Amino acid sequence: TYIIAEPCLDIKDKACVDVCPVDCIYEGDRFLYINPDECVDCAACEPVCPVEAIYPLDQLPEEYEFYDAVNAEFFTEV
Ligand code: SF4
Repeated sequence: TYIIAEPCLDIKDKACVDVCPVDCIYEGDRFLYINPDECVDCAACEPVCPVEAIYPLDQLPEEYEFYDAVNAEFFTEV
């Protein structure tokens, strides 16, 4: 899956939402979130993000690893 990290905070540009072929990017209060069960790893979202907030999970920078848990928590609450 892909993970949306800190640069998205209060930005929520949504360019990624427009390009995602399976519509698996959801809007929260302050972030956008990728549903890990629906993401097909197509990578379309990564280059269109204007703030470079989107990373493949296995390439998530160490300082953003926290966002894997933040993302998972969002989808367990809904
Ligand atoms: Fe959607 Fe593809 Fe990005 Fe996954 S990698 S969130 S399927 S655009």
